[in-house]
Amino acid sequence: MQTTRSLSLRLGAALLALPGLGAALPSNCSIPIVRDQELQDAVTIEALYAHAEALQSRAYSTPGRNRVTGSEGHNLTIEYITSQLAALGDYYSVEVQPWTGATQQFGEIAFSVNGVEYEAADVEFSPNATISEAPLSIVPNVGCEAADFTAEVADTVALIHRGSCTFAQKATLARAAGALAVIFWNNEPAGVVQGTYGGVAEGVAAGGGISQADGEALVALSSNTTLTASLTITTVIETVFSANVIATSKYGDPDNILFLGAHSDSVSAGPGINDDGSGTIGILETAIQLSKYRTRSKVKFGWWTAEEAGLLGSEYYVSTLTEEELLKIRLYLNFDMIASPNFILGHYDGDGSEFGEVGPAGSAETEHLFEEYYESLGLNHTATEFNGRSDYGPFLASGVPCGGLDAGADEVKTPEWVEMFGGTAGIILDPNYHQAGDNVDNLNPFCLEVMSKGIAHAVATYAGSAFAGYPPRESPEKRSVEQKLQKKTTLRQPPHNAFPVPI
Ligand SMILES: [Zn+2]
Repeated sequence: MQTTRSLSLRLGAALLALPGLGAALPSNCSIPIVRDQELQDAVTIEALYAHAEALQSRAYSTPGRNRVTGSEGHNLTIEYITSQLAALGDYYSVEVQPWTGATQQFGEIAFSVNGVEYEAADVEFSPNATISEAPLSIVPNVGCEAADFTAEVADTVALIHRGSCTFAQKATLARAAGALAVIFWNNEPAGVVQGTYGGVAEGVAAGGGISQADGEALVALSSNTTLTASLTITTVIETVFSANVIATSKYGDPDNILFLGAHSDSVSAGPGINDDGSGTIGILETAIQLSKYRTRSKVKFGWWTAEEAGLLGSEYYVSTLTEEELLKIRLYLNFDMIASPNFILGHYDGDGSEFGEVGPAGSAETEHLFEEYYESLGLNHTATEFNGRSDYGPFLASGVPCGGLDAGADEVKTPEWVEMFGGTAGIILDPNYHQAGDNVDNLNPFCLEVMSKGIAHAVATYAGSAFAGYPPRESPEKRSVEQKLQKKTTLRQPPHNAFPVPI
C-alpha cells in the first residue's frame, strides 16, 4: 500500500508540474462515466466461464489439482489475475502484497474402534499421531475444565463432546492429563466435526472429529463394552509464501473508495471453482469491463490469499491500513461462493433484520440495493448471516460498512427455499463444498450470471455516483462501545469456509 501510494503521489506531482496538463486530468477524459446497464450487459456468462476454465486448468496442471494457499495452483491463479489486469494497460495500479504464514497443506485421518472404521476429519493444525489399539476413554461434561480429565485419561484416546471452549483448550488439557490423542464428537447433527486449533499450537494432543450420532453410539457402547481405538492422523503444515492482489482504479476520488473482494485460494480437496473461483472471476470480469469507463469514486479490487486458513490474507491487508486509510473506504463488498449449484439468492443481512447483527452505517443501504436488484429481475432473495466469517470480517471489525452476495455453502436447503429458488430440499446448497468435485461443472450458470451482474450493478451505482445519498463514514470515536464489543466478537469468529468450528 505504502509503495503504491507514494508512487502515484509522485507521478501526480510530476504531471501537475507540466504546464496545462494537471488541470486536464481526469475530468476531460474521452471515456464515459460508468453506466449501470451497460456495465451489467458487458459482464457475460461466456467470459465468466472462460475465467472459470482458466482457473480449473491451472489447478489441474499441478500435482495437487487444487489452488490451496502457497501451492503451484494458487500461484498460477495469482499470476492469471495479475496478467488479466496488466492487459488493461494503466487503468489499474496493481499491488502484489506479499504474505507469509503457516497453513495446513494436507490432512488425513483413519479412526476405528473395536475394528469398526468411523468417518472422521482431522483437526486443522493437529500434530501427527499413530496409535494402535489404545483404550478409548470418555471425558465427562465438555472437557473445558482440568477436573474433567481424570487419571483414567492417561494413555488413552479421549472422546470429548464439542462445545463451550475451543478445541485447542480441550486438547491442551487432554495432553496435560496424558491422553495420546483426542476425538471430538459433534453437538449438532451436521456431519463430522471439522475443527481447528487455530494455528500451530504447542502442547495440544493430536485431534480428530466425528459425528454426533457416532459419538453418542460410542458413549452408549462404553457403558457395557471395553472400547479399543486405533488412530492415524497425518497433517502437513508448512510456512508458505503467498500474496494478496490489490488493483486500484485510475479514476475517481481517492477519499471515497469502493472496495470489492474475493478470496483467491481454495481448500486442498479440489480446485475450488465455486469456493471461491466464482467470486474471484465475478469481480475480475467486472474489473475488466469497468476499464472502459471512468468512475467518480476510486474502485479497489482485492483478491485475498489464505481465506481458507482463517481469513489470514484479508486480515493482514487490513492490519497494514492506518485509521485514516480505513476511513476512506466507504464500502467493502465481499463475494464468496456466488454460483452454488443448489443455490439461494442471498445478500448479507447488513440491516440486521434477519440475524440481528447490524453493520456500520451504509451496510443496511447496501443490503437494500441488492434486494432491489433481485426484485428488478423478478427474483426472490433472502438475507444471509452477517457474521464476518469471510474476508469482510476484518473490514467489518474495523468499522467499514460491508455487504455482499452469497449463494450458500453447507447450509441444508429447506422446502421454503425450494419454493423460492428451486433446487433440492434436504441437501446442502453446494454439495461439492470443499470437495474434489468443486470444479467448473459444479457452477450454476444462472446464479453466477445474476450475481456477477449484481456486482457490476453495485460498482456502477456507487462508483458512478460517488456514493450519492450514501451515509457518510462514522468517525471511529463515534462508534459506540457496543459496536466495539461486537467487533471483537466478530474477529474471533471462524472463517465461513475453512474449518468453520473453533468450539
Ligand atoms: Zn470461500
